[in-house]
Amino acid sequence: MTFQGNRGKGGTGGGLGVAGFAPDCLIFDVDGVLIDSSASYQETIRMAVEGEWGAASLIVDAPGYSPALNTVFKRHGGFNDDDHIAWGLLNIAASRDPGTGRLSECIPDPGELAAIIRPCGAGSARRWLEENFAGRFSLGRVADRCMKIYRGSDGQPGAYAAEKPMFDAHWRDLPLPVYVFTGRESRDWELGKGILSWDDFPDERAVTSDSGMLKPSPEGLEFICRRFGHASPLFFGDTASDKMSYEAFGRGRFVAIGSVLGSWAPNFPCVRDALSNLIGWRG
Ligand SMILES: [Mg+2]
Repeated sequence: MTFQGNRGKGGTGGGLGVAGFAPDCLIFDVDGVLIDSSASYQETIRMAVEGEWGAASLIVDAPGYSPALNTVFKRHGGFNDDDHIAWGLLNIAASRDPGTGRLSECIPDPGELAAIIRPCGAGSARRWLEENFAGRFSLGRVADRCMKIYRGSDGQPGAYAAEKPMFDAHWRDLPLPVYVFTGRESRDWELGKGILSWDDFPDERAVTSDSGMLKPSPEGLEFICRRFGHASPLFFGDTASDKMSYEAFGRGRFVAIGSVLGSWAPNFPCVRDALSNLIGWRG
């Protein structure tokens, strides 16, 4: 198997420069790579922010989240979990309350948010939020609300039902061993397996957040390669935290999927295009 470089559409050249690189396995992030969860993820955060803001007897007169705010968090690298983002955003907004309690006057716009979180280190976002913005809203309560919104409760369907597969092949049909390194809890990866029709994907091949191995740490990549004897993975991710995990790991190659990491090469709109261009797979 020869790594072909990024000659085709979507590849912009330059950053890879590794014609002849031979990957020995494929490691996939899930959300934004294998599954389009943009609707469910952002909707969960929006509903959680608005729900908690209202439950605190404050005034919900603006959306609690937006695609533009999401892009700011995803380019930072330290903010991955929906509950951490909702909780952080709630406490950031509360810290800006001029006394009216109106969400529209408290929630930062994208430029303000980028400036606020710029000093936060990518590997310590939760601690940074606790040190700088903890207060009115508790993480446990926000996390519980996010979980109910995402998974569904009281007979209501969960936000996850809006998710769609971004890749239509079965993992067994790929030409190299396949692994998953995701920020999802194992229970939510189970939902994802159903969306992908990958129900038979082995548990031991997936590193989920319950393991404690969290991006942007490289531990998940190290664990997979050590346990299964690989040295040169192709790792597919869509956000800054994925790229940082790869850079800290320092082996294999990182392939960006989607628009968040638009300046990274190689970058492809979807996994199928990436596999076709990079390893000549036409499954
Ligand atoms: Mg992702």
